[in-house]
Amino acid sequence: MAKVLIVEDDSTIRTSVVRALSERGHVVTSSATAMEGLKLAVAEKPDVILLDLGLPDLDGREMLRMLRAVSQVPVIVVTARRTEDEIVRALDAGADDYVVKPYGASQIDARIRAILRRSGAPDEPRDAAVTVGGLRIDPRSRVASVDGEPLDLTPREFELLHYLAVRAGEVVSKRELLTEVWQVPYTGVDKTVDVHLSWLRRKLGETAQEPRYLYTVRRVGVRLVDPDGRS
Ligand code: CA
Repeated sequence: MAKVLIVEDDSTIRTSVVRALSERGHVVTSSATAMEGLKLAVAEKPDVILLDLGLPDLDGREMLRMLRAVSQVPVIVVTARRTEDEIVRALDAGADDYVVKPYGASQIDARIRAILRRSGAPDEPRDAAVTVGGLRIDPRSRVASVDGEPLDLTPREFELLHYLAVRAGEVVSKRELLTEVWQVPYTGVDKTVDVHLSWLRRKLGETAQEPRYLYTVRRVGVRLVDPDGRS
């Protein structure tokens, strides 16, 4: 759930996006002009702004420059102009992402979620150290240890372990790991996750046959558990 501000002068599009995102649980405000959008951006402090480039009073890129002087709120630029040059200019002006019209509500929703993950959504205390059994992972110092012994992990192994530890006890699918940790789409044949899991197991001093922390759930994914049974 996010507070979303939509700046779009086309009332048909605006109404349908407001409705679609509200149905997905977001709190949505909207404006039909750049100047009002700027005012709302300051007054309402949205988590993310969806900004149309073709606005009646100001070009969306102009508004973005003005906005950037006062706020670092993530902005997804919405454009009917699909040339690379236009997209590059929008990103250069301070946009975090863009979508090309016409677009579906699910795509916008997915991009909003992705942006909030990157910007550190308030409901994810991502900086707090995580402890599961003898495993301790501190994202601030990027130090992981098991039973007090530091683990020598690659950045990706660290991310993977942290992601699983935050969700200790839950089965996490390989699809989710690929999208969230590697940020690549899942094709169904990818062995990346398996390979990293096996490296991680070796460093944790366990095997798939005799797991302590990392349990494979066949055809579903993997679950990190407290070997002492407290999670
Ligand atoms: Ca427009």
